[in-house]
Amino acid sequence: MDTIRLLPDVVANQIAAGEVIQRPSSCLKELVENSIDASATRIQIILRDSGRTLLQVIDNGKGMSEMDARLAFERHATSKIAQASDLFQIHTLGFRGEALPSICAVAQVELQTRRAQDEVGIRLEIDGSQLVLQEPVSCTQGTNIRVKNLFYNVPVRRKFLKSDQTEMRNVVNEFLRIALAYPNVQFTLVHQDEIIYDLPTGSEKQRIESLFQKSQRNLFSRQLLEIQCDTELVSIRGFVAKPESANKQPQQYFFVNGRYMRHPYFHKAIMTAYQGMVSGEDVPSYFIYMEVDPQTIDVNIHPTKTEIKFENEQPIFQILMASVREALGKFNISPALDFDAIGKIEMPVPTKQTISQTVDAPVTTRVNDYNPFKAHSFQIDSTPWQPLYESAAQLVRHNQPEPESFLFESQGEITKCYQYASRYILCSSREGLMVIDQHRAHIRILYNLYYRQMERAASSSQRLLFPEVWDVDEVDMDLVNHLLYDLRQLGFELEQLDKRAFTIIGIPPQMQAAAAIPTLAQMVLDVKETDTNIREESRKKMALRLAIQTAIPYGKVLSEDEMHHLVEQLLSGDMNRITPDGKTIITIFEQDEIEKRF
Ligand code: ADP
Ligand code: MG
Repeated sequence: MDTIRLLPDVVANQIAAGEVIQRPSSCLKELVENSIDASATRIQIILRDSGRTLLQVIDNGKGMSEMDARLAFERHATSKIAQASDLFQIHTLGFRGEALPSICAVAQVELQTRRAQDEVGIRLEIDGSQLVLQEPVSCTQGTNIRVKNLFYNVPVRRKFLKSDQTEMRNVVNEFLRIALAYPNVQFTLVHQDEIIYDLPTGSEKQRIESLFQKSQRNLFSRQLLEIQCDTELVSIRGFVAKPESANKQPQQYFFVNGRYMRHPYFHKAIMTAYQGMVSGEDVPSYFIYMEVDPQTIDVNIHPTKTEIKFENEQPIFQILMASVREALGKFNISPALDFDAIGKIEMPVPTKQTISQTVDAPVTTRVNDYNPFKAHSFQIDSTPWQPLYESAAQLVRHNQPEPESFLFESQGEITKCYQYASRYILCSSREGLMVIDQHRAHIRILYNLYYRQMERAASSSQRLLFPEVWDVDEVDMDLVNHLLYDLRQLGFELEQLDKRAFTIIGIPPQMQAAAAIPTLAQMVLDVKETDTNIREESRKKMALRLAIQTAIPYGKVLSEDEMHHLVEQLLSGDMNRITPDGKTIITIFEQDEIEKRF
């Protein structure tokens, strides 16, 4: 006896529904996408019980003829593609012709629709795939579809749903994806008779703003940097968040040709561009809109079409990473010091005299044999600082109309710095009250210096009066020999004594002799940990170790000059918001935040 038989449509549709319609949010997605495909400019969404009992979408799109309305509920009935080759030329969100029949298989659906050219519209009621009513109706142009009691006839599915709260969150997430992709469409979202979103049309940035802004004054868009790039393969527009606004709940969106997508590989491109700028688990927000030739992507690999395959994945990765880097580079000039009267910190600041009473007379002249461990000759940095300021001026020139006066004339009279808890420096910036960790700031400054020194072979060293002997494990000898050149660039003059020892003849000028051996030993450990042979990596480790060793410690009271010097050096250098090992250096309290507290 033959055992294969064709499934009745009702059953087939229920099975298909399992793929396309998993929960209220997926139903919402399909309905709203249909409205967009019908060129609607105004879409209203009305929900009850997170969409379980009612999910209604009203649009002002082109509507359907009587025939089309009937056909729309048949499987694989679509007006959007006619032949297989059309699959590679998709300009609409839907094309599989599955959504409406799937929804009808698992809910009670009422549809009302009218085209502009028709006098009357049509009204249909469908109950678990069965047409129960069809009648003419007078209604406005467009489509009004009500999906009631989702999964009323599929208890297993119903059980599978999460709490109302979770389902609502899914619904809102789905809504955000569409609303972000179509800022030229007016949306309202109503839940339990309460307006959740009412979005006017506008630019993408305005749409982002109306969806995510926290308060009138705390504009989300202020944290965004624009990116824009047109190439033959792809055109990319959008926004990425400033590194300091990275957090544990970022908003991350990719769109391609008006369709939201998940794309872990492109996500990686963006994260790579942020490398070294965001710390720890903090992740930046981004909103990326890509346009590509539809022939170069495959949206059909997944029923909900959120996973998309790109023909030119690798070059697009590079283009995306470069565009994000450029945007970040333009921005990373540093939080500009604010020399205007506005925003100045007005609090009593200890003067030089008051500080000198508490510590040994701070020396502010810049000497090259500065030793941070000698309490009596404190100075921020022994580096020739002129070049740093020159590069700062170049950087600032990008952004500031009068860079010279900005950095140089004001040097002696910049906003006052205030030290807190012998650990933080407070000063005023354009963006708000800036709080700087003194130790970490100095680590960043020194690290940049040491790293450059290694690259440019521009070292200086202080000779030790009494050379020290450094005993090295025999297994590490090869490694140390391998590092000798870079160590010399950092200022370590080493001579091999025998099979397991070196004589230390010279050390970096910033260093105290007693710290030399422990630092060298720690560097060897650090480099061993990198488990890569890439020289750049070992250099980074060494520069960081030396910077940590020689940076101003916590607990060090700083004079105002020292603070100014430190702050200016920090802000004029690269990557000044976090240390090379990812710790926050600067945090900014925005004025609104401060005002809110009063
Ligand atoms: P698809 O979107 O893949 O074509 P659907 O099942 O979602 O399949 O919709 C079937 C058809 O019904 C669409 O191709 C379209 O012609 C019509 N349709 C659905 N919703 C609307 C709407 N809101 N306005 C106008 N036409 C619609
Ligand atoms: Mg559709």
